[in-house]
Amino acid sequence: MYDAPGVGLAAPQVGVLSRLYVMDCNKDPEAEPEPIVMINPEITWRSEALNVYEEGCLSIPDQYAEVTRPAEVRVAWLGLDGKAHEREFDGLWATCAQHEIDHLDGKLFIDYLSAMKRQMITRKMVKLKRETARG
Ligand SMILES: [Zn+2]
Repeated sequence: MYDAPGVGLAAPQVGVLSRLYVMDCNKDPEAEPEPIVMINPEITWRSEALNVYEEGCLSIPDQYAEVTRPAEVRVAWLGLDGKAHEREFDGLWATCAQHEIDHLDGKLFIDYLSAMKRQMITRKMVKLKRETARG
């Protein structure tokens, strides 16, 4: 995830069918990495206020699109410490949490786009896969 570089990675993206993901939206290159691992995450509250972010996904390389989501969310999850946690996130953290939890439900950010835009990206991915298979 850090190498990509990306700010989140969900288990299904690496072939693990568990409801868990990791995120770290701290973009300060000087900061120590502090990934948050969330097991069985659940969004318990969404703000009415919305936010638009240009999202990308490690499962859809080099494709970015603006997605509108609630600006703040409260997430409840089980931590690696075996304890229940609940916290509110905003900014990139809120977008990332929603994007990753979508992965656990088999949903991708392109599902929020218009049919035309989604088709454009899907076509590019099919082409990319063909090229990768050839190479
Ligand atoms: Zn993703």
